[in-house]
Amino acid sequence: MVHESHKKTRKIPIWEIIQTFECADEAEKSIGKEWSKCTKYVTDEGSKVPYRCNRTKKRGKQCSAKMCLLYHCHNQKVTLFKNEAEHDHNNSSVKRGIDENAKVIINELLSDGIICFTFICSKYE
Ligand SMILES: [Zn+2]
Repeated sequence: MVHESHKKTRKIPIWEIIQTFECADEAEKSIGKEWSKCTKYVTDEGSKVPYRCNRTKKRGKQCSAKMCLLYHCHNQKVTLFKNEAEHDHNNSSVKRGIDENAKVIINELLSDGIICFTFICSKYE
């Protein structure tokens, strides 16, 4: 169970705008084959479709680099965002399961008294 108070203090990822396209087609074409579409979700600004780097296995540790398309709700425009993280799939692809960095973080979480495994996993999605 994730405590509400903890959710609110979670670090908000920083997204930078790469480009705004006039239509969805152009935006989708601009995304290379190394990106896989994730589940769409709806926000106040419009629908957002996150993309993950597909150099990593879907169920393994994810590459830190992520992209996102925002389908504006008031017009046809689609904005492409990228997060601040660099690709780190070279490190993660050779390892299986939880890597050393993650173990350290998990140990810190455990010592903080946060022992929710679901929460630990969700940090790495
Ligand atoms: Zn990557």
